[in-house]
Amino acid sequence: MVDYDVMIAGAGTGGATTAYALAKRGHSVLLIDRKERDNIGNKTCGDALGSHHIQELRELVGIPELPKGIVEYQVNGIDLIAPDRDHRLRMEGPTTTGMSFNRLKMGQWFVGLAEEAGVEVMASTRVKKLLFENGKVSGLRIAKDGEADKDLTSRIVVDATGATGMLRMQMPESSPIERQIANEDRMVAWRDIYETPNFDFETPDILEIFWNQDETLGGYTWVFPQGKNRVNVGNGVMTIEGHRNPKDIQYDFVKKTWIDTWGDIKVLDSSGGVAPIRRPIDTMVDDNFMLVGDAACQVNPIHGGGIGSSMLGGAHAGITASEALERNDTSIASLWRYNPRYHKSYGSKQAALDIFRWFLLNITNDDIDFAFKKQIIKASDLLDTSMTGEVRFGAGEKFKRLVAGFGKIPLLLRVSKVANLMNDIRALYAQYPESPKGLASWVSRLKPLYDAAKAV
Ligand SMILES: Cc1cc2nc3c(=O)[nH]c(=O)nc-3n(C[C@H](O)[C@H](O)[C@H](O)COP(=O)(O)OP(=O)(O)OC[C@H]3O[C@@H](n4cnc5c(N)ncnc54)[C@H](O)[C@@H]3O)c2cc1C
Repeated sequence: MVDYDVMIAGAGTGGATTAYALAKRGHSVLLIDRKERDNIGNKTCGDALGSHHIQELRELVGIPELPKGIVEYQVNGIDLIAPDRDHRLRMEGPTTTGMSFNRLKMGQWFVGLAEEAGVEVMASTRVKKLLFENGKVSGLRIAKDGEADKDLTSRIVVDATGATGMLRMQMPESSPIERQIANEDRMVAWRDIYETPNFDFETPDILEIFWNQDETLGGYTWVFPQGKNRVNVGNGVMTIEGHRNPKDIQYDFVKKTWIDTWGDIKVLDSSGGVAPIRRPIDTMVDDNFMLVGDAACQVNPIHGGGIGSSMLGGAHAGITASEALERNDTSIASLWRYNPRYHKSYGSKQAALDIFRWFLLNITNDDIDFAFKKQIIKASDLLDTSMTGEVRFGAGEKFKRLVAGFGKIPLLLRVSKVANLMNDIRALYAQYPESPKGLASWVSRLKPLYDAAKAV
């Protein structure tokens, strides 16, 4: 006899969605978070989300409309700004329509939905240890604030603890789950929220992204207005050797770019954060065990957005776990379907964008300025690539870009190489093994593609 069907460590967007999907199907679920109940959802974030994610979630697990008060401002587009600051690309379309929202209220709403569906929420409780029986995951050791440790059992345990993946790291060496995430596959970020009483943002519905390889190598600086007189400003960089401290980058950027224009600013919040920026981990399940959200590396490798994809991961994990519980089989083979389901909806695009990330790391400010100036990059390309994970030009378009890019032919050849590698990785994800048996040989085919991407 176990205490719950499923225990979920972490009540962020990934964990809360998993819990909601399972409880709606009638399973007993315990959702645990170390934060106080009123503070669940509070997180260092850019607070931006594409509307299409909510739509996908509605179709998968039937979440209701977002209540009023969560959305701070409707977002209608994103401006991508070249390092020279003279050129910008406005991206407007279904992927860039979205919202700037209140992170705490969104988190509270999600946990509330899960509770209404029947989930037991245990806040102010730290998950300390993954428990095993006969070598298989069997439960959790938890400690409520001020109380003694307690052991609880369940048929499935879900790690939704965010970027630390603290349960993932406790899996035994014999598990096919990767325990460690390489530094080069992480983004470290700094984010402030300012009130600007003497400055009005004229177009708060347009988010701005500043691209500059000298300042934010492998990342970018964002300026996301949250209305006329409030703004979320931050930057993230890849944690490769010698990277700069994002807090220093932040203050240089704000000082050089905005201090005279914005006038007096009031700092409302200020903090750092980390996110994984790679393909999803190669298997997100083992016997009686699943991972969702940042713990499973379900984050867009280019822009670092992971709220929508963590909810998508949570929905697929919840549906697959429910089917496994109904079959009375929570083995790795029975939970396996979660992997291809997630890959089909987001993971294979993530893997392709991970290839693209390595290409972006190796281009210079000069290349980017040139590409913007000569319109070798167009807003429609970026939208298309961010939506599909593919780089596509028709034959006529290829010729036009070739003419425009005369003088930078090596750059164009590199774009062409990276586009082929992105297609190759998508093809490999379409062949994701149908059972755990095929995993090792499939993984061995991934590495050469990433090695090639790093060398483009
Ligand atoms: C600076 C920054 C800016 C970002 N901006 C955006 C953005 O604008 N848009 C976007 O889509 N994404 C953004 N992201 C990414 C996004 O925040 C994450 O991908 C998303 O929150 C992942 O959700 P999650 O549920 O996996 O993890 P989290 O939201 O991190 O939730 C994990 C939960 O687990 C709990 N927990 C952890 N350890 C324990 C433990 N031992 N015991 C109990 N509870 C535990 C935590 O308290 C937390 O509530 C940003 C990330 C960073 C760092």
